[in-house]
Amino acid sequence: MIRYDLECGEGHVFDAWFSSSSAFEEQRGAGLVACPVCGSVDVRKRLMKPAIPAKGNRAAGSPAEEAAPDAPGGTALSGKAKMMRQMAREVHALVREKAEYVGGAFASEARRRHAEGGGKAARPIWGEASAEEARSLNEEGIEVMPLPPLPDEKN
Ligand SMILES: [Zn+2]
Repeated sequence: MIRYDLECGEGHVFDAWFSSSSAFEEQRGAGLVACPVCGSVDVRKRLMKPAIPAKGNRAAGSPAEEAAPDAPGGTALSGKAKMMRQMAREVHALVREKAEYVGGAFASEARRRHAEGGGKAARPIWGEASAEEARSLNEEGIEVMPLPPLPDEKN
C-alpha cells in the first residue's frame, strides 16, 4: 500500500491509500479519486516536501551535544573521559606497585631478562623506551606494553 498526499484543483489537500502507483493512476483516470471536500476528480499528487528540519529547530533540539566539543579543556569532561583518566591512574599505580623501575635501561633490561628465560617468575619491569626500542623489542618476541599517558593531576 502506498499513501499519497493529494490535492484537488481547488487546492484542497487530502491523502488516500492505493495498492500501487499504477492503481492510483487507473482510479484517477476512471474518475474514482475524488476530493472529499468538493468532490472534484481533478486530483493530483502533491509534491513531496524534503524531510529536513529547519536549522533553528535542529539547533534548539540538542544544545548540550553541540556545546560539548567547544568546551574549554578540563571543565566539561564527559563521563567517558573521566573514566579514561581514572583507568590511566590505576594502571600507573599498579605498575609502580608491582613492577621494578629500570628507567632508561628498559630495553637492555628487558632483553637481559628475556635471554635469561623469559623472566616469567621475575618481577616485571617498567621504564622508558623510545617507540623505536619498543618496536624492536616486540619484533624480538619480547612483550612490551605502552603505559597510557598519565592525566594531568589538577583534576
Ligand atoms: Zn477539493
